[in-house]
Amino acid sequence: MKILVVGSGGREHALAWKLAQSERVQMVYVAPGNGGTAADTRLKNVNISDPLALAEFVKQEQIGLTVVGPETPLAAGIVNIFREHGLKIFGPSKEAAQLESSKDFAKSFMQRHAIPTAEYQTFSDVAAAHDYIAQKGAPIVIKADGLAAGKGVVVAMSLEEAHAAVDMMLSDNKLGDAGARVVIEEFLAGEEASFIVMVDGKNILPLATSQDHKRLLDNDQGPNTGGMGAYSPAPIVTPQLHARVMREIIDPTVQGMAKDGIVFTGFLYAGLMIDDHGNPKTLEFNCRMGDPETQPIMARLKTDLVTVMEHAVNGTLDTIELEWDRRTAMGVVMAAAGYPDAPRKGDVITGIPAETADCVTFHAGTAQDAQLKVTGGRVLCVVGLGDTVKVAQKHAYDTVEKIHFDGAQYRRDIGWRALNKKH
Ligand code: ATP
Repeated sequence: MKILVVGSGGREHALAWKLAQSERVQMVYVAPGNGGTAADTRLKNVNISDPLALAEFVKQEQIGLTVVGPETPLAAGIVNIFREHGLKIFGPSKEAAQLESSKDFAKSFMQRHAIPTAEYQTFSDVAAAHDYIAQKGAPIVIKADGLAAGKGVVVAMSLEEAHAAVDMMLSDNKLGDAGARVVIEEFLAGEEASFIVMVDGKNILPLATSQDHKRLLDNDQGPNTGGMGAYSPAPIVTPQLHARVMREIIDPTVQGMAKDGIVFTGFLYAGLMIDDHGNPKTLEFNCRMGDPETQPIMARLKTDLVTVMEHAVNGTLDTIELEWDRRTAMGVVMAAAGYPDAPRKGDVITGIPAETADCVTFHAGTAQDAQLKVTGGRVLCVVGLGDTVKVAQKHAYDTVEKIHFDGAQYRRDIGWRALNKKH
């Protein structure tokens, strides 16, 4: 069987890597892929991004299944297009992807279906937004309604920052259409966790839990990024909390979408904030897997992913169980100089060791010509596996230290929360 993975990041490299391990797979195409997917003989990069052209390619090559990584093609309706052409694809329709592509849609959906989340209001009028901030006080969170590649959220600790964020989005149009409406919401304190499930329209299959590190610098300092590292499992998600998240957040979301006339298929990712009393609230939904959470999750998955995907597109996820490596997987992101504001391209990457039983390096912003070079913000994600969090962390950092490119940025403390919990 041939498979297509859509996307070019570390998430897509990890998905393609896992799919290619299946004995049932002949070839995994990645569109457009990166330097890591280009170098793997079981994978083949395809330089097509237009969904219609991709659908034609899939027909021509008789590709049996397509898996979509990033949110942009989903929000643009790639799943609708593929289905209209009778092609099997795992992901949400354009309508279902609104849970991620419009924060106003997600917030009003959660309110309507009593899914725990921060209190909020949506504004397109600048003066009304400023009044609301003055009335509520700081800290407060300002979010662009539309997709803004992780740049659309300002967690304002002061009133000045909050007002400036509103001006940036609503008056100065710095985020374009994505910021033409803003959601202003209550600041939630606590610890974040990523809760990702697969949904086939009716059945829900949870993946292993994980935790991301959003900030650029150690000790959770510096600007927000796409994610600087992640590990799985996340010790904060106890079996009790897991059951509660399924009952209070995930089940009502899938059922709520159905009640609203939208069948949800695809990965559903709830970004959770868990308060000091262990109560979860939903910060956001994503309609795809997280990056970098996918990398450690795929490193732990033992079940054949092709079989899982087939069940997902055939509506039979209730008939399988997933088997996980009991070890912890820890992914450390290496980012380009200047990331996240102005990532520098062109630095030469050397020293990536071959994959071993306890470490694998996934590529993101890389391209291979005569040399392997940096092409984007997040460059690599090095995933270490170990029987304890500490050992997983050591395996990841031992490899990170062997890899070189000028200006490489990475955090030295990925996994600190899990380490604190274990000791
Ligand atoms: P992503 O890149 O994860 O898709 P996004 O741009 O969709 O992010 P959110 O996940 O909604 O934005 O927010 C980004 C980050 O901002 C969160 O991971 C969290 O750290 C912080 N944040 C968001 N909402 C709140 C809130 N209500 N209270 C406190 N922090 C928040």
